[in-house]
Amino acid sequence: MFRDFRKISPRIFGLVTLAALAVLLTVVAVPQWLSKQARLQVLRSHVAEIAQLAASVVDGDLHRQLLDPANYTPDLYERTVAPLVRFHSADPEIFYVYTMMERGGKSFFVVDTAASGKLKTMRKLRASAYMEPYVSLEVEPDPDYLQRIAAGETYVYPGFQRDAYGTFLSGHTPIYDSQGRYSGFVGVDFDLTYYLSLESSFRSIFYGSVAGAVLIALLIGYVVARYHFHLQDRIDEQYRISIRDELTQLLNRRGALRFSREALETRASCYAVILVDIDDLKGINDIYGHAAGDEFIIKVAETIRGSVREKDICARMGGDEFLIFATGCDLDAATEIARRILGKVYARDGHSGRSHFGVSIGISVAAGADAKFELLYRQADEALYKAKTAGRNRFVIFDPVAAA
Ligand code: GH3
Ligand code: MG
Repeated sequence: MFRDFRKISPRIFGLVTLAALAVLLTVVAVPQWLSKQARLQVLRSHVAEIAQLAASVVDGDLHRQLLDPANYTPDLYERTVAPLVRFHSADPEIFYVYTMMERGGKSFFVVDTAASGKLKTMRKLRASAYMEPYVSLEVEPDPDYLQRIAAGETYVYPGFQRDAYGTFLSGHTPIYDSQGRYSGFVGVDFDLTYYLSLESSFRSIFYGSVAGAVLIALLIGYVVARYHFHLQDRIDEQYRISIRDELTQLLNRRGALRFSREALETRASCYAVILVDIDDLKGINDIYGHAAGDEFIIKVAETIRGSVREKDICARMGGDEFLIFATGCDLDAATEIARRILGKVYARDGHSGRSHFGVSIGISVAAGADAKFELLYRQADEALYKAKTAGRNRFVIFDPVAAA
């Protein structure tokens, strides 16, 4: 696996993984975020409904009387709170149910179900006293919330509240008397324990999906990078094949042109083109067979490769013609190469009646500044033609004076 890992491009792997991760996270996170918002909205309307139901059970006329401390009697308090106590006892998810009134921008508790001995609850509650001022622990998120309730709005706090008893969400709804006059408001503190435990399981699902998305993104990144590597490998292989001659494993014409042009860009002091052509290969084919002809081609190729430096370009240009493109090679060095090749290739066969096995060579050399591949090639070809017509098995150096 680790060896395989080294075969991939870290750039492709990183980019593809990131792109896949961005798409997958969007696909995973956006719907989850939207559904979380939807669940929160459902909770808020639920709390608003409970506050409205609580307000609907309060006798508005009794509550209105109780707003004036002059009217307070334990009996009036008990009669006012009684329906709320029944309501509260029926819903275990409610922390507190109370009513409030506003005076001078402040709010005061009026009745509190926790003050009644008839409240059925498992919770330990601290009852607010009649007309106890409400002291907010935090800054009110909406400073105008009392006016909004007075104007008839059911107000649910924008955020969750926390105290020593737990986390809750409060909803407030106005109370009206029989003549439709605003007479304080009901407050319900709704316990969020169940909601939060549900949210935590949704959170686990979310983290699980994110981890899954990361894994899938890594996998996609790996598979694409592997495929890219495989493709690149194939392309490189095809390219290697496309510039090589199959029989001799020397460069072919395409490879020779490419590497010669690259060599010319290095601006060396001089360049030499040496063209080598097998003498009478047709005759060798005719007498010894095509396979023997092939073998001779391979032998000449090996001889050429073994007669030049590693960096010199050797190519089979087609048929029985070979090219040497030598960088930093002057006339003396080129002549030396030609002599070496002629010496190694030359052979005789006394039985066949053939004159010899050999090659003819044309040489052209140019100073670095004047060197052009096509010109050097043409000149070497002219010299090669002269070597052939002069009797073969020799080299001829291109002579610019004779050519002019
Ligand atoms: P010359 O001395 O004038 O070069 O005579 P030649 O017979 O070599 O003639 P030329 O170079 O014009 O033609 C090359 C011949 O080489 C033609 C073809 O019969 C033979 N030949 C070309 N390619 C191959 C090859 O791949 N294998 C073999 N066995 N023969 C080839
Ligand atoms: Mg030939």
